[in-house]
Amino acid sequence: MLTQDDERLLRRAVDLAHEALETGNPPFGSLLAGPDGTVIAEDRNTTVTEADITAHPELKLARWAARELDPATAAGTTMYTSCQPCGMCAGAIERSGLGRVVFALSAEQLGGLKPAPAAVAVRQEGPALFDEARVPVEVYYR
Ligand SMILES: [Zn+2]
Repeated sequence: MLTQDDERLLRRAVDLAHEALETGNPPFGSLLAGPDGTVIAEDRNTTVTEADITAHPELKLARWAARELDPATAAGTTMYTSCQPCGMCAGAIERSGLGRVVFALSAEQLGGLKPAPAAVAVRQEGPALFDEARVPVEVYYR
């Protein structure tokens, strides 16, 4: 259940999506807020202007949080984002230790608003070479 504070912060994320659009990038924006609703970081999609396919705002904020926040602070932080995080960003958010994500458009709603993606699934093959590949992993986690 979203509060009025959640909606205020989500509207700011939508404003950031407009800002991304105005700079020639895909229209997505996100921010991080502390438990009291104070904005501690914001970002916009810059995949076009930085020529970086990973420059989604959610990923950039997850990386920032993992680098700059202690685990307890990260766990008390909420990400507000104009659209539900994609698979790449969702993985980074999980690794970052953030406590909560609130999004405006769902991935399904986004899918109804834009053309079908050109990307196709990349074939993955494996597992293979278990006895060789496990060695550095075992050394690291020993
Ligand atoms: Zn993403």
